[in-house]
Amino acid sequence: MSFNAFAAKAAASPLEPFTYDPHDLGTWDIEVAISHCGICYSDIHLIDNDWHMSQYPMVPGHEIIGTITEKGSSVTDFEIGQRVGIGWQRSACLVCETCLSGHDNICPNSEATCAGHYGGFSDNIRADSRFAFTIPDELESEKAGPLLCGGITTYSPFRLYGIQAHMKVGVIGIGGLGHLALQFANAFGCEVTAFSTSPDKEAEAREFGAHRFIPSDDPRELKYAALSLDFLISTVHADLDWSTYLNILKPNGKICFVGAAPQPIPVPVMLLIMGQRSVCGSAIGSRDRIREMLEFCAQHGIRPKTEHVAMADCNGAIDKVRTNRARYRMVLHN
Ligand SMILES: [Zn+2]
Ligand SMILES: [Zn+2]
Repeated sequence: MSFNAFAAKAAASPLEPFTYDPHDLGTWDIEVAISHCGICYSDIHLIDNDWHMSQYPMVPGHEIIGTITEKGSSVTDFEIGQRVGIGWQRSACLVCETCLSGHDNICPNSEATCAGHYGGFSDNIRADSRFAFTIPDELESEKAGPLLCGGITTYSPFRLYGIQAHMKVGVIGIGGLGHLALQFANAFGCEVTAFSTSPDKEAEAREFGAHRFIPSDDPRELKYAALSLDFLISTVHADLDWSTYLNILKPNGKICFVGAAPQPIPVPVMLLIMGQRSVCGSAIGSRDRIREMLEFCAQHGIRPKTEHVAMADCNGAIDKVRTNRARYRMVLHN
């Protein structure tokens, strides 16, 4: 049986219908009939080969929700007909020091769902069941997809860096990632500041949980914010004046990057030494943390704000993400 997908045939080209025969079903594999797939900015980076790792034809999509239609002989955790989610990570070695310490998301031998493999802009996918997740009943299929990448990417820093309810947290960029980060920060009990160049996003940022909104293209406002935050999460894929943001951190504060700024970050060392500030990053999350995040979203009513488009219209949806017009996550459906 062939799978019907949408693929970029060359870097930065529009997606075209693409049919392929899946690999044999491995003992740990499941076959999933895809109902929904979110569009993440990483899909755009992969279509454009920004990270020099794309192979063509390239089928994007790593925020996948669907129903299991086949399973390998070792799969005992899942049943045929069950709803599951699949995110950025396709596999890890599961035996290295990093995997054994519970950090399988940063295994040096891990593979991505849609880099070197065909992703979720498709009617079906075969994937390793050990990197698939049961979706809590409370989470609607059209809302659950973006949690598998955008959700875990913005949830994990709170747990990784021990963010607590008394802390003051800022979120830079209110888009697909940022609007989820605001919801998590609020649910963790923090005082939340949103930074955005779009003043028209202020009302929504407050609905997502921001207590304060700072227009990030106003240098005076950024200066007033100096020394006010314990933790900053940058979700933007742009180069900003990072020294200004380091100055917004209190002593011992941290700035965590989850969005891929294109250029290296210039860091004045004295800001790190004198205030003991840190610059850090966070990559998706371990399988354990993904399960935890899905339960957290179910319990706290956290959902992405989504726009829904038929899979066949994926190019129009991609264009909206590319030009920052998505409010806030585009989700394709079959
Ligand atoms: Zn992603
Ligand atoms: Zn490993």
